[in-house]
Amino acid sequence: MRNMLLTFDPQAQITADAEQGFVFEVLTFEHGERGFSAIGRFSGSDSVLEERLIDCEIGDPRYPEADLDRRIRERIRLLCLRLMTRATGQTASPWGILTGIRPTKMYFYLSALGFSADEIRERLVAVYGLTPAKADLVRAVAQVEKPFLNNPADQVGIYIGIPFCPTRCHYCSFASYPLSTHGHHVPRFLEALAREIQAVSACLQSTGLKVNCLYVGGGTPTALPDDAFESLMHLLPQSFRIPAQGEFTIEAGRPDTISPRKAMIIKAAGANRVSVNPQTMHDKTLAIIGRGHTAAEVCRAVECIRAAGIATLNMDLIAGLPGETRDDMAQTLAAIQKLAPENLTVHTLAIKRAAQWRHNLADYDLPSADETAAMVELAAQVASRMGMHPYYLYRQRFILANLENLGFSLPGNESPYNIQMIEERQTVVGLGGGGVTRLVRPESGKIERLFNPKCPATYVSRIEEIISGKVKSIESLFH
Ligand code: SF4
Repeated sequence: MRNMLLTFDPQAQITADAEQGFVFEVLTFEHGERGFSAIGRFSGSDSVLEERLIDCEIGDPRYPEADLDRRIRERIRLLCLRLMTRATGQTASPWGILTGIRPTKMYFYLSALGFSADEIRERLVAVYGLTPAKADLVRAVAQVEKPFLNNPADQVGIYIGIPFCPTRCHYCSFASYPLSTHGHHVPRFLEALAREIQAVSACLQSTGLKVNCLYVGGGTPTALPDDAFESLMHLLPQSFRIPAQGEFTIEAGRPDTISPRKAMIIKAAGANRVSVNPQTMHDKTLAIIGRGHTAAEVCRAVECIRAAGIATLNMDLIAGLPGETRDDMAQTLAAIQKLAPENLTVHTLAIKRAAQWRHNLADYDLPSADETAAMVELAAQVASRMGMHPYYLYRQRFILANLENLGFSLPGNESPYNIQMIEERQTVVGLGGGGVTRLVRPESGKIERLFNPKCPATYVSRIEEIISGKVKSIESLFH
């Protein structure tokens, strides 16, 4: 059913799924001077429902003519959604027919056509089927993001992937290999990474590009042994000059990898943002999800970051973890509030193909969609009480209750890197394990993607080819 909605071809007037005991038909649709109209019918074993959709907005002259097919397809999908919602009695996704992972891109698309913020909000509800609350959220996030999206064309971001962690969390789908089984790859991986960093640094200098944000993620970079971590932290500021107002983030996702020495190394390298990710402050849940650390270790890690004087602390949480309720989330949020991070990122659990849990998720007691939505809403309320506003937003496939991931920040502490990753307006060069390069053509906004291997051994064995391909692509785009 879902696939049918996503792939519906407006040229084909009838779609049926008799095998499942129902038939869905788009009986008619037409588009003319007076707008668009369509009638759909759902025939189940004991009911027949019809739905009519009339839309005059589709002909707004601000839309480009070439966009018409897409608009027709969207109206038909909305008709399908309404009909299916009635037929099944289920609540539609709060995101309506928006299936992409970046809802704010639709906002900026309509804004570029000349629609006002109020008009866009209206269309998000009426044409795309968002709930009013999600439409308000998109508008609020887009308005915070806007000033970050007009960087000069010579600005780029850098991502460095360190694909190692102490252990692998059961829900993880990132490039992350446990040190217990893959730790022997670390020295050669770091040698290869140093070569890639130096080659990309030289290439940026020769093309006149400037780095405005540097993000070291993974994996857990702070899982590296102290000396190896210190060498990498020395190399980065030598290779990429970040302006004083720029962002330099280190992921320290696993709090058990942070020590006073690691925090001082981070500070000495000039990093100004660190992410410590509890996910939950309940030890029982941490054990279930395979995090291998405790809530007390989160507090100790935060003390180290604060003692080192690093300006911005981000903390990640996950709503919808097994066995958790809204009350559990309330307790976690109360503990986070005491730690007073400048950024808070609230994810909703999403189990992708690379996660260990993809095989046995049904064995776990996941909260209901309503309970999960209540957790997300509570997190937003607490973030607001902490003086934060939502500043970036994305969705994922297989996300619980069709919800979203939402980043909050105290005003002035937003992560420009996170915004650039979602809006894809600026080139980000990805290095290291699993690093993804997004080369954005300044004149057209078109994006070319290059993927580094996630596996450290493959990365090491292909490093020369990776470097030459990346340098060639950057030079051809910016020369
Ligand atoms: S700490 Fe993060 S990157 Fe590492 S295994 Fe857990 S979820 Fe994956």
